Amino acid sequence: MSKVTGQCLCGAVTVTAEPARPSLSVCHCDMCRRWSSSAFMAIEARPGSVTVEGPAKTITTSDWAERAFCPECGSPLWYRITAEGPMHSQMQVAAGLFDNAAGGTLKLEVYVDRQPAGYHFAEATKRLTEAELLAAMGITPEGGA
Ligand SMILES: [Zn+2]
Ligand SMILES: [Zn+2]
Repeated sequence: MSKVTGQCLCGAVTVTAEPARPSLSVCHCDMCRRWSSSAFMAIEARPGSVTVEGPAKTITTSDWAERAFCPECGSPLWYRITAEGPMHSQMQVAAGLFDNAAGGTLKLEVYVDRQPAGYHFAEATKRLTEAELLAAMGITPEGGA
């Protein structure tokens, strides 16, 4: 796909990425919900395709991932997998940075077992629970199976 460029709310950070596919995903996990106020909607970037201009700040938010945001306006920018394994360094870039969500269609929802009862997306999506997603990532949670 061709590259798309988006920006945070205040414009201090611009992000250019090549979507891996014309699809959107959402994560319903507790951290994404607090971070973005609902489900975090993202575009998977083709590996190595992301360039960032501006003062993006990155925080480690779990043993296997980090999140980035604009320190000027607080906009979520991306989620990146830091754990070794099949998805190492995969970047899920915030769909909201891009006009028309870069033309993507919602195809995947993860952490569906954490989804609040009061809202649902209408698109037909593949739905993965926390355990199913972590297994796909090659991660065994502390104290988990
Ligand atoms: Zn900003
Ligand atoms: Zn999440």
